[in-house]
Amino acid sequence: MFEGNGDRFGWVDDPNGNSHLTIFVQGGRVLDTPSYPLLSGLREIAKVHDGDMRLTANQNLIIANVSPAQRPVITGLLDKYGISDSHRHSALRLNALSCVALPTCGLALAEAERYLPSLLTELEELIEHNGLRHDAITLRMTGCPNGCARPFLAEIGFVGRAPGRYNVYLGGGFAGQRLAKLYRDSVPADAIKPLLAPIIARYAQERNDGERFGDFCIRAGYVVATVQGADFHQNIHPDACAKTSNIESGKALP
Ligand code: SF4
Repeated sequence: MFEGNGDRFGWVDDPNGNSHLTIFVQGGRVLDTPSYPLLSGLREIAKVHDGDMRLTANQNLIIANVSPAQRPVITGLLDKYGISDSHRHSALRLNALSCVALPTCGLALAEAERYLPSLLTELEELIEHNGLRHDAITLRMTGCPNGCARPFLAEIGFVGRAPGRYNVYLGGGFAGQRLAKLYRDSVPADAIKPLLAPIIARYAQERNDGERFGDFCIRAGYVVATVQGADFHQNIHPDACAKTSNIESGKALP
C-alpha cells in the first residue's frame, strides 16, 4: 500500500534475496564536486554492477537488484566515494525538487536548480532551530509557471516570476492528494526565509500529532484548501464565496 509519494532512502531487501539502494541526488544532477564525487562513484559502480540503475520520479537514483555476493563490492565503492548515507541530509532537503530552469531551459524566468540548494541551506536554519530536522516537508521550485517539478502539489512551492522573484504556494498535500494555493505573489528571494520563519515556528509549536505542514497551513488559516481544481485561484473560504456571490446577485445573506 502506498502511504506517500516520496522515496525510501537507504537499503531495502526484497523477497528474492536481492537488495536495492536509493540515493539522494540533489536536483537530479549527477556531477562531481570537490567534496562529493557522485559522478565518479556511480561510474565505478556501473562498471561492476550487474543489476539495474533506476531513476525515480523524485530525481533520485536506485541501485537496484544488488545480489548478496555483490553487495560488499557496491558498499565498498559507496564508502570510498562518500555516497552511502542519504540520511545525513535534512528531511526537508530529501523531499525537495527543482526543475532545471536557467541556463538550460529557454522558458525560465528565474533560477531553480542552481538556487534551490542555497535556499534550502537558509531554510534548514529555521528547520534546525525549530527541531524539525527529521520532519519531511515537500518543497519544490520551478523557474516558471509551467511547473515541471510539480510545485503546485508541494506543501511549499516556489514558482519563478522574474529574476530573483517567486510566487510562494502553501497547503499542498504531503502525499500529493491536494493542490497548493498561492500565498504570496512575486516574493524577492531574500524575503523568502523571513516570510516562512513564523509559519515554520508555529508549525513546530502548534501542530497536532502527525499533522503535515501543508495541512497545518490550512488549519492555521494561511491559505484555504484547494478541494477541486477549479478552486486553485480562489483563496477565500467557500462560505465567504457564497456570501460574495449572494451580494453580487442581490440575494439576501443567510
Ligand atoms: S518549469 Fe519552466 S523553467 Fe522549469 S523546466 Fe519547466 S518550462 Fe523550464
